[in-house]
Amino acid sequence: MNERVDVGRDVEVDIAVVGAGPGGMAAAVAARSAGRSVVVLDEQPRPGGQIYRGIENATPALRGVLGTDYAAGAAPVDALRASGAHYVPGAAVWQITRERELHYLQDGAARRLRAGRVILCMGAIERPMPMPGWTLPGVMTAGAAQILLKSSAVAPAGPVALAGCGPLLYLLAWQLRRAGVPVRAVIDTTDWRAYARALPLLPGALREWRLLAKGMRLLAALRGDGTAVYGGAQALAVEGDEAARAIRFIAGGRAHRVDASLILLHQGVVPNTHASMALRAAHRWDDAQLCWVPVTHETGELAGLPGVFVAGDGAGIIGAQACAVSGRIAGLAAAGNHAAPAEIAALLASLRRTRAARRYLDRLFRPLPSLRVPADDVIVCRCEEVTAGELRRLVRAGCEGPNQMKAFTRCGMGPCQGRQCAVTVSELIAAERGVPVEQVGHLRIRPPLKPITLGELAT
Ligand SMILES: Cc1cc2nc3c(=O)[nH]c(=O)nc-3n(C[C@H](O)[C@H](O)[C@H](O)COP(=O)(O)OP(=O)(O)OC[C@H]3O[C@@H](n4cnc5c(N)ncnc54)[C@H](O)[C@@H]3O)c2cc1C
Repeated sequence: MNERVDVGRDVEVDIAVVGAGPGGMAAAVAARSAGRSVVVLDEQPRPGGQIYRGIENATPALRGVLGTDYAAGAAPVDALRASGAHYVPGAAVWQITRERELHYLQDGAARRLRAGRVILCMGAIERPMPMPGWTLPGVMTAGAAQILLKSSAVAPAGPVALAGCGPLLYLLAWQLRRAGVPVRAVIDTTDWRAYARALPLLPGALREWRLLAKGMRLLAALRGDGTAVYGGAQALAVEGDEAARAIRFIAGGRAHRVDASLILLHQGVVPNTHASMALRAAHRWDDAQLCWVPVTHETGELAGLPGVFVAGDGAGIIGAQACAVSGRIAGLAAAGNHAAPAEIAALLASLRRTRAARRYLDRLFRPLPSLRVPADDVIVCRCEEVTAGELRRLVRAGCEGPNQMKAFTRCGMGPCQGRQCAVTVSELIAAERGVPVEQVGHLRIRPPLKPITLGELAT
């Protein structure tokens, strides 16, 4: 087993990890601890993934704004740097074959890597939130605004309104307040009924009380500094002609309108399944998390595709701390470390605990049906400007699934390759046909997973 790996043109390595977030970093360190040669490919310029994005460059002031959870990312990044794994920044993986050959683009050159084992730790993407006015200038996702803050220390001038549901909504509102950004309101679609529905799952979640306490602290901090927080919001709509200027909604039985030049939307994250789908791995519809998840063994190995593992939020949403645990499990299992079974068993037990808390959060922050399957005049596919009404009309005309829909409307054929609409399209067709989403299926994903020019391909 060679220790150092020169990632020239065509290279063989024991284990290739795609993604250097908490999951990928833990997987690489675990595999290295078993003496395997490891290459980590990540499209970002530095390790950290979504949660710890840009941590190595973040000033103490920015770390202060982003909070202790963010600052805690320095340790796993240092561990990766010290592990002997070969970290390849700016490497956008655009194809992975079932024979475990990885094709990636770096500095405009196409490169290839063959691996004995592959661990996909490609994280999550934000769930689309199709609603009236969501395509207007001045409307972004909360995650996009947070990426600007983490990677470039850029904060919006404001005033800002945040709308939707889920932990990230409150976290970002709190981070923006700490950065001195005027936050006009946090408009939360979670209502009291959601709390009632989630109650039966609370006992199981209390074993991870720190996770829950963190959310309550964020809410208290926002209320404490006078930020308006509206709960149980519905009938959300962004107002504006050329650009967003306000958001309207109903809460507490009353109509509200909040002026804001920037409206940040967020209703949770879903696994980034493009690579596992392009590998033709089996996926199932997870109705608790309202998304497609790859079918895996408990170590993360894909069912029917030995040697390829998925870990982190890409295998189902579990949160940053648990992503590191599932990454370590996959790293140890992929390395075939015979001393690992006991440790893997203990790690699996802690993952089960976290999943119990996650089930509570999933039920509590379940996005509203109206914000998942929108009204006819709302654009669903932003790339090709296809509305929900067009999709419904074609379902009534006999269209049964998203791939047929793509052929009829180009929906999902644009630059984002369905990242912004695939979940919505499957849910909409299922609702219109009155069948389970599983029966409708998901968009077929093909390489390239990331844009690549013919010129780059020719290299
Ligand atoms: C925009 C956004 C912001 C978030 N912010 C927070 C937060 O502040 N706090 C929190 O607790 N949780 C946050 N989350 C949730 C986040 O999913 C988890 O906390 C955690 O980061 C997931 O870890 P992971 O290792 O699974 O993947 P990630 O941390 O997402 O890391 C995946 C890595 O894979 C890379 N990648 C993906 N596709 C490719 C490809 N084709 N080629 C090469 N590299 C690729 C990505 O660039 C990324 O660096 C955020 C999620 C999103 C989508």
